[in-house]
Amino acid sequence: MSIESGVLYVVATPIGNLGDLTPRAELVLKSVDLIAAEDTRHSRPLLQHFGIHTPLSAYHEHNERQALEKMIGRLEQGESIALISDAGTPLISDPGFPLVRECQNRGIRVCPVPGACAVVAALSVAGLPTDRFVFEGFPARTSAARIKQFEALVAEPRTLVFYESSHRVLATVSDMAVAFGEQRFAVLTRELTKTYETLLSGTLADLKRIIEQDPMQQKGEFVILIAGCAPEEADSLAPEVARTLHILLEEMPVKRAAALTAKLTGERKNRLYDQALLWQKGK
Ligand code: SAM
Repeated sequence: MSIESGVLYVVATPIGNLGDLTPRAELVLKSVDLIAAEDTRHSRPLLQHFGIHTPLSAYHEHNERQALEKMIGRLEQGESIALISDAGTPLISDPGFPLVRECQNRGIRVCPVPGACAVVAALSVAGLPTDRFVFEGFPARTSAARIKQFEALVAEPRTLVFYESSHRVLATVSDMAVAFGEQRFAVLTRELTKTYETLLSGTLADLKRIIEQDPMQQKGEFVILIAGCAPEEADSLAPEVARTLHILLEEMPVKRAAALTAKLTGERKNRLYDQALLWQKGK
């Protein structure tokens, strides 16, 4: 395989296990004129491990505009550049989108060099449906914003996937239990491909209890997967209707919330009332 000039290669790097760098990624990283890395200090040990001595330059969210112009200039002059992030696939909750879009706008070829990605790794082992899924990235940082975000997803039938860090994992799982109901089935994957790789599954109440009781389970990097809304439930309410009902239920009794949601959305009052009771029972 030879490297083409004037091409941006978007190269996946390992999410833990260094054995997951593909031979093609290694070859591309050795052969390009420049590697644009999210954090050069972070990537240097990886590159050293593989004997890659290609010049490195920083490309992160704080210098994105400036760095982007430099990269585009070099690509237009025929240089080849590899974009990498700290771990996994660039652009997946990582920098790179403006650069790739600008390349596409200018007719600069962008070539994927796929490999590790935490969302795909987690889906591949969670035991939840993967034919259709929704990737939500990192949940909002404050509890109120998170609950609002989750409530908008309560009636979503596809498997939901979130990233989370050790600082917020307990708070996020607790908020998930509030919004999706304690009985919703979920899977928590931690430290995938690393020494302390763990997979916990059960209801959100189970997961919350386990990680609350064992602080070790709050350490590392996480992908949280939530089972989609069961078909009986999903059939009954459209996501916007469910969201309205959830919000009103926080403010008023079930009967009034159902009546008001019916007025606002056109959904049948009785159906809303039954659904609200199911939610209150944690179903
Ligand atoms: N671009 C990366 C990818 O392709 O997965 C994701 C980068 S994002 C800034 C970092 C988040 O990805 C972590 O907070 C965690 O939610 C998830 N993540 C990355 N590596 C992981 C791992 N080994 N195990 C579990 N989750 C991981």
